[in-house]
Amino acid sequence: MTDAIELLALESLLSAEERAFADSVRRLVDDQVRPHVAEWYESGRAPVRELARELGKLGLLGAHLTGYGCAGVSAVAYGLSCLELEAGDSGVRSLVSVQGSLAMFAIWKFGSEEQKQHWLPRMAAGEAIGCFGLTEPDHGSDPAGMTTRAVRDGDDWLLTGTKMWITNAPVAELAVIWARVEQGITGFVVPLAEPGVTVNEIGNKMSLRASATGELVFDNVRLPASAQLPGARGLKAPLSCLTEARYGIVWGALGAARDCLETAISYTRNREQFGRPLAGFQLTQAKLADMALELQKGYLLALHLGRLADAGQLQPEQVSVGKLNNVREALAIARTCRTLLGANGISGEYPIMRHANNLESVLTYEGTSEVHQLVIGQKLTGLSAFA
Ligand SMILES: Cc1cc2nc3c(=O)[nH]c(=O)nc-3n(C[C@H](O)[C@H](O)[C@H](O)COP(=O)(O)OP(=O)(O)OC[C@H]3O[C@@H](n4cnc5c(N)ncnc54)[C@H](O)[C@@H]3O)c2cc1C
Repeated sequence: MTDAIELLALESLLSAEERAFADSVRRLVDDQVRPHVAEWYESGRAPVRELARELGKLGLLGAHLTGYGCAGVSAVAYGLSCLELEAGDSGVRSLVSVQGSLAMFAIWKFGSEEQKQHWLPRMAAGEAIGCFGLTEPDHGSDPAGMTTRAVRDGDDWLLTGTKMWITNAPVAELAVIWARVEQGITGFVVPLAEPGVTVNEIGNKMSLRASATGELVFDNVRLPASAQLPGARGLKAPLSCLTEARYGIVWGALGAARDCLETAISYTRNREQFGRPLAGFQLTQAKLADMALELQKGYLLALHLGRLADAGQLQPEQVSVGKLNNVREALAIARTCRTLLGANGISGEYPIMRHANNLESVLTYEGTSEVHQLVIGQKLTGLSAFA
């Protein structure tokens, strides 16, 4: 019997350091996520702040960034950490993606030295949680239409608008907020305790229930000039942050899929119908084999993108290829694994339905599948079909 991810001995493509790093994340997930995550999911409450500090201790927050207390690991190692975290739960990986690849990356890439010194070491340690507000109630796939705006008042800025579906918002100390100013779109670092900020938790989620999601309302929030991210000019600034986070998802989705497949293999080996294990039926094996193929292919794709990233050559449309394929296939794997467990497939006793429900969010955020098809279509044809 061969481990699903080891069918092609793909881990032999990793360095000893990369394998050791992945193993350390897997241990953290085994010790601190797996025993509790079903309960977090059912209650819709995860101890995000405590978890952030544990993740910070292992260097997993802003892991791929350098300086300011960040671990500075390779893109491949960062991707492997996303895979292991999402094998626990997509909500835990989302916490890490939003903290490291969106909020911290925006400050690291576009912030002033003062902003970096002030925020990044505490964020890397998990002592301050950040969020990233791009989406608005009326502007999701088309953020260029955003209506959140900041106007000058002397040297200060006054920020007004609403951001929606913001991961970490209910537990965050700061938000990187994208807003329209006279010159175009720019970013601000907004401490959420400022007067005029309201944070509303979004309840009733059927997906990513172990992740905190919120609405942020800004009503003439006064910010000093130093709150603006000086290097962030135009929509390409937040889009470059999204490319970072999407790269993590390319790997992360494989973790959810691996956990589903491992669960299904174990279950079908032990469950007997018609006098033999379900795993011994040809139809079961056809499903398992096809899922293992997609998992291996997705892993090769993620690793290829990771090696390109480490060589400084990764292009946004290549990340779109990875996100589109790996999330779509992970969701298909989760759904097929669900069938293999029969009625138990819908039970919270097993992780499959939780992963499947989570992956519905992962399919939508950081660019929907359709948006990534349009990105790839534009690259192939030279024609934009967005509008
Ligand atoms: C759990 C969760 C967490 C999130 N966290 C964050 C966060 O931290 N920060 C943040 O800023 N946002 C976050 N989001 C928001 C997410 O990025 C948006 O939901 C996403 O961009 C899609 O926007 P929308 O929901 O408004 O859908 P819409 O843009 O209204 O799209 C609805 C449907 O129409 C399709 N569509 C749209 N335009 C086109 C087109 N031109 N051609 C064809 N089809 C099209 C879409 O693909 C989709 O299928 C989160 C979302 C979820 C669910």
